[in-house]
Amino acid sequence: ARMRNEQIKKTKTVCTYCGVGCSFTMWTKGRKILKVQPEIESPANGISTCIKGKFGWGFVNSDDRLKRPLIRKNNKFVEVSWDEALDFAAAGLKRISDKYGGDSIMFIASSKGTNEEAYLIQKMARQIFKTNNVDNSSRFCQAPATTGLWRTVGYGGDAGSIDDIYNSELVMIVGANTAESHPVIATRIKRAHKLNNQRLIVIDLRRNEMAQRADLFLHPRPGTDLFLLSAITKYIIDNNWHDKKFIEERVNNFDEYYKSLDNFTLENAEKITGIDKNEIIKVASMIHSVKSMCILWAMGVTQHSAGSDVSTAISNLLLITGNYGRPGTGAYPLRGHNNVQGASDFGAMPTYLPGYQPINDKNAIKKFEKAWNTKLPMNPGIDNVSCIENIDNDKIKAMYIIGQELAETGPDTNMINKSLEKLEFLIVQDVFFSETARYANVVLPSCVSLEKEGTYVNTERRIQRIYKVMEPYAETRPDWEIIQDIARRLGYNWNYKSPSDIMDEAASLCPIFSGVSYSRLEGFNSMQWPTYENGDSSKYLYKDGFNFPDGRARLYILKYRPPIMEDDDYPLHLNNGRMLEHFHEGNETFKTPGIRDKAPDTFLEISPELADEYNIKTGDFVRVTSRYGSIKVRALVTDRVKGKELYMPMNAASSDNGINLLTSYNRDPDSDTPAYKELPVRIKKLKDN
Ligand code: SF4
Repeated sequence: ARMRNEQIKKTKTVCTYCGVGCSFTMWTKGRKILKVQPEIESPANGISTCIKGKFGWGFVNSDDRLKRPLIRKNNKFVEVSWDEALDFAAAGLKRISDKYGGDSIMFIASSKGTNEEAYLIQKMARQIFKTNNVDNSSRFCQAPATTGLWRTVGYGGDAGSIDDIYNSELVMIVGANTAESHPVIATRIKRAHKLNNQRLIVIDLRRNEMAQRADLFLHPRPGTDLFLLSAITKYIIDNNWHDKKFIEERVNNFDEYYKSLDNFTLENAEKITGIDKNEIIKVASMIHSVKSMCILWAMGVTQHSAGSDVSTAISNLLLITGNYGRPGTGAYPLRGHNNVQGASDFGAMPTYLPGYQPINDKNAIKKFEKAWNTKLPMNPGIDNVSCIENIDNDKIKAMYIIGQELAETGPDTNMINKSLEKLEFLIVQDVFFSETARYANVVLPSCVSLEKEGTYVNTERRIQRIYKVMEPYAETRPDWEIIQDIARRLGYNWNYKSPSDIMDEAASLCPIFSGVSYSRLEGFNSMQWPTYENGDSSKYLYKDGFNFPDGRARLYILKYRPPIMEDDDYPLHLNNGRMLEHFHEGNETFKTPGIRDKAPDTFLEISPELADEYNIKTGDFVRVTSRYGSIKVRALVTDRVKGKELYMPMNAASSDNGINLLTSYNRDPDSDTPAYKELPVRIKKLKDN
């Protein structure tokens, strides 16, 4: 027994799934994962995890993993050596850049990769190809939240800390399925609601678990959140309930903003949102009755054509009630991927250098030019979504995609597939042979998180280290090594010995990371940015000032725009989201047998009223059709949804019934994020049940 124990290795790591960023000790023996043990000192989660963090690791040893690099020859993928694959990848990028210029290449960082890897891919784009065409999956999810926060308070990140949500007297959740999408945060709220007299308001289309627990649940008409939030805000100011001292000392633009709310009366709000005006008064009164409120939101807000504006309205409401910069207050856009925050923070964005230094900030540019010994581009790059139309109009000729399943997670799968087919050169670097990889010229097999070192940033801006739990599978390699090897083949003498060297460079160039170093992040130690040279990290943002030159926040004026509406041909509204057991398109969780058995596929939630009208029972097959495509899926009749509103988890077992076969390329104009959740459809019961 002693011998066996000696082989057990215990390593600290961070969950590879959602943005809560749970950390734990992983017990392993070789490649076998014995146990996931969260620790009291795990900063985001304490002793909790959800099913994904605890049991979602089967994919790591899945036979489906890519083992060796592949090159497509005569439309067949053949295994090649790393040398051949890297030479081919570098030569392909060089050929396209020589022929069409660096701006014809689009670089996508993985929102699951480490900060160091996001940093390197943006460095490759900017230093080697002189282009700002670099982005990550935040374009598909929380870019609108970031826009809303930049407009009003200045930093695109959570204003407080996960543990601090417990201290809030009132939590408002807007458009987020927290119990399933960010389960460990939901656990804290449930506990505070029970033990700390915390009040809970949920605004959502669906009576999800948190809505069922809420003190007040509001279900507005789809796409009308901006009107609802602005009416609540107006009612508070009309009643003189706003925080006058806070506004006077810390907020600009109050008078003009208040005037802009004229139209958002209770009567108009009732007409547009369908919410009884007494309910709106109830919300305003609840906010007035507490000393601290925080607002959490996610894709139910952001994946709409007004995603940035609704995020802004949330921040406006927090500002007029003085709910920033103190314990228990603030804005919490809940991040999806484990490192979607970090990929943006470390510069995989078309308009920002690492550390949110704008690409047109002359001083920042000069600093990077000196460090990288090059001239840098100052024109904004193309983003992850607009690159699709830019393939179609021949501006983008090549892509280097790291760990993003664009073919399934981008909007309107049929359109995206056609665009990917048009590319002259495509590098896909991933753990599995993804749907996107089918269009690749070269496929580079990378390591999973357990096989490498690096850091992630979770939703509360917390930078945490991951350690190597096990050796790389087959011939896979860490992304940072692969990117570096391609850069070297392009004639750039990058010489990072480890991810820690990369972090040191980022820290030296980015004021908000200037205090970060691997030694300060040892074990379960972590830092929340902005972090400074003396080692201080920031539990709260905006304690002393907002992130603008005058230190004052700005109320931002908004106009209500109606959403994309249903019509006679497509009379029903289809919403989508996550189920607890799975993550996104399910590349990992559907390859984890225990989880797959528990939740084998997606389904369509139909209200009892609609089920009656269409004569549909739970388990029946239904065809769902939008203007862009059609899928077949099993029905689940439930009163979680109401009337003509449907809901479908985006986590499908196969590419034949993914939600994005239905979604459209309509976008939020301020962030370019697709309006995935504004989707008119029709349904038909199928006979072959
Ligand atoms: Fe992982 Fe998120 Fe679950 Fe925590 S809550 S274990 S980070 S999926």
